[in-house]
Amino acid sequence: MEITRRDLLKNSAVTVGGLALGSALSICSTSSAQSSGDPAQMNSLLANLPPYTPGSETLGANEMRISFMGTTCIPMISQAAVSVLVELGNGDCFVFDMGTGSIVKYWAMGINLDKIYRIFLTHLHADHMGDLPFVYGFGPSFGRYWPLYIWGPSDSNFKYTNPMGNVRGPFADGTKAYCGHLTEMMRWHNESQAFLFTSFADYVIPPYDPNPALKRIDAYDLVPIELPWKNTGKDARGNPNNDNIAYNQKGVKITHFPAVHCRAASLSYKLEWTTPSGKVLSMIYSGDTLPNHYMIDNARSGVDVLIHEIVMSASNWIGKMGNDPATHPRAVQQAQNVQDSSHTTHKAYGYILNQLSKQGKAPRLAVGTHFQATDDTIKLALEDIRKWYPNGDVTIAADTMVLNVTPGGVTKRRAVVSNHAWPIINTRIPYSKPQPPKYWQIDPNTRRPNGNPVAQLDADQYRQVIDKSLYNAI
Ligand SMILES: [Zn+2]
Repeated sequence: MEITRRDLLKNSAVTVGGLALGSALSICSTSSAQSSGDPAQMNSLLANLPPYTPGSETLGANEMRISFMGTTCIPMISQAAVSVLVELGNGDCFVFDMGTGSIVKYWAMGINLDKIYRIFLTHLHADHMGDLPFVYGFGPSFGRYWPLYIWGPSDSNFKYTNPMGNVRGPFADGTKAYCGHLTEMMRWHNESQAFLFTSFADYVIPPYDPNPALKRIDAYDLVPIELPWKNTGKDARGNPNNDNIAYNQKGVKITHFPAVHCRAASLSYKLEWTTPSGKVLSMIYSGDTLPNHYMIDNARSGVDVLIHEIVMSASNWIGKMGNDPATHPRAVQQAQNVQDSSHTTHKAYGYILNQLSKQGKAPRLAVGTHFQATDDTIKLALEDIRKWYPNGDVTIAADTMVLNVTPGGVTKRRAVVSNHAWPIINTRIPYSKPQPPKYWQIDPNTRRPNGNPVAQLDADQYRQVIDKSLYNAI
């Protein structure tokens, strides 16, 4: 089903009299738009969930919490680009993707950068890693006193020969190259903040560091852990060979399997946690992908939560972006091409759920994400999914949606957050042997090395700084 042309003209960024109305609409406050009853400006599905106050609950020993910190590919005030936080009752936390704008949601939800240090990237599109420069660069200033670990796909090794015989690639385009470039890109930033304590001699290098000999203990160390993106955990004959384990510690196993998306080298992830009670809680996060059989194979174990991307029809997509699809067929075709290379339609997700259901292995909760979730789009998505999957529990993700998963069930709530939330910082440094900051001086009181906050300023310019005694005189 399509959104009607009349609805599009009513609801989206159409141009009237040469003026774009879309931005004016989007600036409307959520509450007034919500109360206006415009289905393109509200998300009743989220609004009607029971409230949850972040920080008000301790996770049970056998409980998993999944928080949606970004749920679209198009960042907007209501939804950041994709990121999912998984917290476990054993204290572990894992981040899947770190899309543009998601850090705002982490902070609003009371999650500081000291919990964003094990990041699993599905692929290297900007809507899945756009906030990494911020998280990497400011982590050491906001409580992450140790390196940042990034799991992600290895080089695509893709080589293309065009009809003229010209060759493109292969490129160093994997996670290792990405992290190397990011480190270089952040040089000025990282040096500028390096009068802080960023390195502690008693930090214990974790077993998932792929090269402990490098002794990466500094908070500005960015440690890539490349995953061979073709691996499936099975050999050519289909026998298990465990070649797809990304992480395996303290009862938590995270495996990867191929996502089929846009260009070779994208991943989906599956997290399985054996709780103290012995029961296994599990989730799958698809990242971006065309609907595929790897997914059905991996979800066939019967996961608690299956988080899968979905996309609206190409014509609705173009309509939402301010153009009447009926008069912009080329734009619709472009959008269709993107979908055909990259994404899963509502119906295709329904089909996957149907296939699982037929085997008695439907997820306890199916979530659609990477999706612009408003009443009008949600209605169409659920109608299509239900054609194949009429009965199982399905929802559409939005930022601040929180799932609590226990052996007893999955509950859905919405976090109550402030538009004015500050990061909540734990000031207790978990180590006792600080190494001198990179820019340091001897503290006249303690006679020990301490940061020198002005060491990197230009001396001539620093002499132009107004003396505190002048403006503090009153
Ligand atoms: Zn993508």
